[in-house]
Amino acid sequence: MASPVTPQFTGARRRLIDELRGKGISDMAVLRALDLVPRHQFVPTGVRHRAYEDAPLPIGNGQTISQPWVHATYLQTLHLSGSEQVLEIGTGSGYQTALLAQLCRHVYSVERIRPLLETARDAITACGIANVSLLCGDGTVGWPEYAPYDAILVSAGSPDVPQPLLDQLAAGGRLMVPVGGRDDQRLMEITRSGDEFQSREVSDVRFVPLVGKHGWDTA
Ligand code: SAH
Repeated sequence: MASPVTPQFTGARRRLIDELRGKGISDMAVLRALDLVPRHQFVPTGVRHRAYEDAPLPIGNGQTISQPWVHATYLQTLHLSGSEQVLEIGTGSGYQTALLAQLCRHVYSVERIRPLLETARDAITACGIANVSLLCGDGTVGWPEYAPYDAILVSAGSPDVPQPLLDQLAAGGRLMVPVGGRDDQRLMEITRSGDEFQSREVSDVRFVPLVGKHGWDTA
């Protein structure tokens, strides 16, 4: 990935990667993606000096970029091979979108807040990433046009599993979605085989609310 400012923060990025290894992230492809994508280009300038802390940060419009460990856990759990078509709900900063772009064939990502989507688009383009399609809208209804997806990642907390996302999973496909209350949730991994769905709990997480037809009514 070509980026004129990639050399900046290289030391800080390596230290973050060491910290994530210490917290159980061992998948080499995931660690490589974390090394390639400059997280500081996906956060507002006011918090850029904190870009390589393993912490969530404000990105404006009341939303946050997730903690790197959370992104790494999603990606390590999915263990993508590079050939997948992936749907992401909640583009936010676009950082996870950029990580996914390193690990699969094409990423479709939906964000409901347009200014965030446009900032994310700029950051993704500045990184020279081309295998991403972005849509402004309610991601709780998925993105039916390009379904089915081998993996679907939801980056906001939902009261329930949105049915359209289950419907848009390919055979053998996996959905990762935080389900629970407005303040804390359990990250679920749901695997489709035929019309059967198997679900398991990955970890406890805290996400901003998923707002939409199949999510919460208000932010
Ligand atoms: N992975 C992103 C997470 C951002 S926070 C990052 O680390 O930057 C979650 C995002 O989900 C917010 O930007 C919020 O606006 C968005 N969101 C919430 N409900 C949504 C919905 N129904 N459709 C699409 N995006 C939604």
